[in-house]
Amino acid sequence: MVHLFNAGPAKVPDTVLKQVQSEFLNFAGTGISIVEISHRSPEFTALLNESNANMREILEIPDNYQILWLAGGASGLFASLPLNLISSKDDVVDYIVTGTWSKNAAKEAENYTNVNYVVPIPSDFTGVPLDESMNFTSGAKYVYYCDNETVNGIEFPHTLKTDGTIICDMSSNFLTRPIEVSKYGAIFAGVQKNVAPAGLAVLIIRDDLISTERLHPVPKVWDFKLQAAGNSCVNTPNVFSMYVTNLVLKHLMENGGLKRFCELSTQKSSILYNVIDNSNGFYSCKIEKDSRSRMNVTFNLTTKELEAEFVKKAADVKIEGVKGHRSVGGIRASLYNAVSLDSVNFLADFMKSFQKDHE
Ligand code: PMP
Repeated sequence: MVHLFNAGPAKVPDTVLKQVQSEFLNFAGTGISIVEISHRSPEFTALLNESNANMREILEIPDNYQILWLAGGASGLFASLPLNLISSKDDVVDYIVTGTWSKNAAKEAENYTNVNYVVPIPSDFTGVPLDESMNFTSGAKYVYYCDNETVNGIEFPHTLKTDGTIICDMSSNFLTRPIEVSKYGAIFAGVQKNVAPAGLAVLIIRDDLISTERLHPVPKVWDFKLQAAGNSCVNTPNVFSMYVTNLVLKHLMENGGLKRFCELSTQKSSILYNVIDNSNGFYSCKIEKDSRSRMNVTFNLTTKELEAEFVKKAADVKIEGVKGHRSVGGIRASLYNAVSLDSVNFLADFMKSFQKDHE
């Protein structure tokens, strides 16, 4: 058995994979595989409607929000959000940059509108900024932030405090804790971390933000108004990923819902942070304690050589996916919903024995 800690694409629950396998040749009794089914068929439409209903139930999404399934991953939203929301050349948007992905999103938005950095971009990312250090623009079109920075391992402990319209990238902590959707203008996520195979993004957006008044032309596949009117089928959607998403939503609901998965995520990440904090500096995590991610535990060993040895020895005992992102190095263990407590305990034991052998 492999203990998989990939950052995305990432672990999908084994029970879901087995169900996919058993139904693969015969979707919903049609005798047609899910990868062959028409997105206009009644069976697929039923799946899409069920998936929307399940998503609405699990996140308690109010009626005045739309759920859109979009191509282009989360990166597609970096561009399509400003394209859909900016209506005048004088508009200003606020971005809070706490790591790689919010920085990428802000750079992309700069192509389309005036970006104000709510706090200066730090040279090194070590945590979320203090509330009192944030310099919001009054009348900003929206305030953007990334709830969990996957590369750096930084997570906001709570929803951002602002009166502005919040747009939040939840790609890597989506469906890992209960949230109050009404606090946000829009939430989006690439599904390849806590949900399903890559190539699909979900956008939950308040009705009043879906408008036709825009400064720039919007590609049809990213036009929120068109996609909302067309039940996310303006073009051929990623039927397979949508199918797995629905199975995962059902799996989450049958296994205790977001409250339970939130408790588990705290438990799992604490196990690893405790090993790091009790290692007398053998392992170190540079992220400030109240910004430490429950999803992506990032840490370093004392030398790059030792880190390479850690990754190699981990693979020998079938621990996979722990090499840090190529831009920052170090070690990263991603603990998404489908990663079991057993796998996390296995990794913690490995870390302790690796330390014993290399001190
Ligand atoms: N935002 C976050 C927080 C991410 O982790 C990622 C991908 N790792 C992205 C955005 C970009 O996602 P995609 O590859 O689906 O475009």
